[in-house]
Amino acid sequence: MAKEKVKVLIIGSGPAGYTAAIYAARAGLNPVLYSGGQPGGQLTITGEVENYPGYPKGVEGPQMMMDLRAQAERFGTQVRDGLVTKVDLKKYPFYSVVDDQHEIESEAIIVATGASAKYLGLPSEQRLMNKGVSACAVCDGFFYRGMEVAVIGAGDSAAEEASYLSKLCPKVYLVVRRDEMRASKIMQQRVKNNPKIEILWNTVTEEVLGTEEVTGIRVLNTSSGERRDIPVKGFFVAIGHQPNTGIFKGQLDMDETGYIKVKPGSTWTNIEGVFAVGDAADRVYRQAVTAAGTGCMGALDAERWLAAREHELVPA
Ligand code: NAP
Repeated sequence: MAKEKVKVLIIGSGPAGYTAAIYAARAGLNPVLYSGGQPGGQLTITGEVENYPGYPKGVEGPQMMMDLRAQAERFGTQVRDGLVTKVDLKKYPFYSVVDDQHEIESEAIIVATGASAKYLGLPSEQRLMNKGVSACAVCDGFFYRGMEVAVIGAGDSAAEEASYLSKLCPKVYLVVRRDEMRASKIMQQRVKNNPKIEILWNTVTEEVLGTEEVTGIRVLNTSSGERRDIPVKGFFVAIGHQPNTGIFKGQLDMDETGYIKVKPGSTWTNIEGVFAVGDAADRVYRQAVTAAGTGCMGALDAERWLAAREHELVPA
């Protein structure tokens, strides 16, 4: 099969990928975007987005992603279904394979593969996704104001989410599976000193309760053997995120958890012509608006790099 040649390949279809596509298309770079295993990214599994500037009445996450897609297509982006399953960044033009069969050569690549929240893996958790189960307190916490909620996890994210929710909710249970937390000392102190947060030590969640929406959780204290149901309306899982960067391992520099390293203040990776944007390169902020912002940066970086290359003036 003949290899397809494209100028700019964008991998991923969250706010970062689509924003990169809007800018790259408007710059005349004819981008081709592959939407990946979860077209639209994490926002397609959230409810209403109320913190994205420009939507004073909020917007449903899936609707926002359809709007971004339409905007990218309006300027000529080819948005395609498909998962990039292999890349070889040592070759130039860069070599990629989509769905293990379609070969593509590209002059620049914008990596916007995002990250996925980790979940406990309980069937009840899956069933009640977006019906009280969430992995983002900043996104969804507002819907549970005035209600009791639970946060699962013991790292900085869980501590941060519990503190955030305590400003909206009268009671937050922080469910910790061991007898200590992994979070930094200062974050631990913050939750321990917060009268609205009750830490349940040595406690695992066995089931999320509810049929149409979350009504509670069934937890087991692993040191006492006591099992009990706690009524909560929100179930926030904060046990970490996994960047979707597996196909780049060994090629792009990453930190120990797989987030792609970029040159500070830019989207440049260790390989010239490959730019990383959005959550795949951001372990700190992980917001739709920051992803969109770096998506824009990635397209501008790619455009300038391609232009400089044409004039043999690649910046250091
Ligand atoms: P993390 O540090 O990997 O912590 C994950 C937590 O989830 C751990 O406490 C772990 O418990 C718990 N956990 C994992 N699987 C579980 C399960 N199946 N059931 C119950 N609990 C489970 O992840 P993170 O909190 O998302 O933080 C990721 C990185 O971002 C860290 O480096 C963190 O410092 C950083 N971060 C920083 C800030 C900040 O500075 N403001 C905010 C957020 C995140 P165990 O401890 O028992 O393993």
